[in-house]
Amino acid sequence: MMETAFQRTMEITEGFLKPMVDAFREEMPPPFEEFGHLYAAATAENVARYQDIAAAMVDSRRKVALFEFGLVPQPFLAFGCAALCLETYPLFFTRTSMDTVYDFIEAAESAGVSSEICSTDRFLIGAAVKGELPGNSFFVTSSSPCDGTHVAYPILQKMFESPMLYLDAPYRYDRDAVRYYAGQLKEQLIPFLEGVTGKRLDIDLLREVVEESNRAYEHLCDVHDTYKVVPAPHNGFLRLVPYLLYISGAGHPGTTHTLKLLRDDAVRRVKEGRTGGPFEERHRALWVHVTPTFDLELFQWMEEQLGAMVVSNSLSSSAILEPIETESLESMLEGIAWQGLDMTMSIMRYDTEKLIQFSLNTYEDYRCDCMIVTQHVGCKSICGAQGMIRRVCREREIPVLFLEMDYNDDRVLSKEMLRNQLEDFFTTVME
Ligand code: SF4
Repeated sequence: MMETAFQRTMEITEGFLKPMVDAFREEMPPPFEEFGHLYAAATAENVARYQDIAAAMVDSRRKVALFEFGLVPQPFLAFGCAALCLETYPLFFTRTSMDTVYDFIEAAESAGVSSEICSTDRFLIGAAVKGELPGNSFFVTSSSPCDGTHVAYPILQKMFESPMLYLDAPYRYDRDAVRYYAGQLKEQLIPFLEGVTGKRLDIDLLREVVEESNRAYEHLCDVHDTYKVVPAPHNGFLRLVPYLLYISGAGHPGTTHTLKLLRDDAVRRVKEGRTGGPFEERHRALWVHVTPTFDLELFQWMEEQLGAMVVSNSLSSSAILEPIETESLESMLEGIAWQGLDMTMSIMRYDTEKLIQFSLNTYEDYRCDCMIVTQHVGCKSICGAQGMIRRVCREREIPVLFLEMDYNDDRVLSKEMLRNQLEDFFTTVME
């Protein structure tokens, strides 16, 4: 049965996340009391983004841009749209309502989608089947990163009968490839956005949004740099926040403000030599691919019980680390293209050797002593890379744990089984 669009999302936003903002601020539970204001700010920013989407759904002058990894919010904000990166949408529910996750995944499978398809895509199709995806919207997607998204987006377009733009993400990672992609942003994305919004591109407004995102990007890079300090400031859960904020809200002043709070706090701790705690850091892990999103307390448990810090997730350390040049439309689109192609799973479009090299660079940068690699069922890219990753880790004597699971769905590998495998690894291989 079709439900009212975005209803469950807004019920959770208003009924659960909003009260959490005050709870974090006023009574953050131990041992993270001194981080309560950071949790509160990040949650408030999350609330603001979802409220903005709900507002745009009922505003005839605005649209909701549903976009995929391979793009960033800035071009959509420059046309007055609210923006939702669809691949982050399951995360909203895996952290707040697993029943909804099961419901949407089962709705997609009942509609005929194979259970072999990535659960992110099954979730999104199920959300569409159930009528949860926001209306007054359009889609922008690309050939990056995988065949799962190639299956999902044409289905979504048929179900929604909404405008959809497909872009061709280059396979290579060099300047010519980025210019090829930026050319499509100019020749296809901008005319498409002009068509769906009825507005002409205002280059000054685009520059304003990009400059705002540049400020946020600098904070993002700074805060990530502080995680290279041993022991690292902030706990594992907080360390996930900066990147998620950026990908959801780059160009919003609120996102910049929240990233600045995180950055200032982390930098102050480094300067004052107060990066340690509340638990002793004995190991630093690079988590390759996506960490399980259904176990909110996993990082705290790993830190407290195993002394193991996940200092970086290889898909959330943006690769270019440079702000966008705002001199001309072309330079802005090239910078937006770099960022889009660097974003999270977009990196999965690389050939496996590059993906491994990217992970090894992150491993060195963050001074890790082990790797944990998600073998996400349904993701041929990361599962297919297992043999090569194992060989490279053997050659370099990097201890590595492969975890077969579904990062959205704890029915494949439960929290308990997940923790058992981590405990075995850290109490045997890493002891
Ligand atoms: S996890 Fe793999 S299959 Fe799923 S969206 Fe990412 S790249 Fe595609």
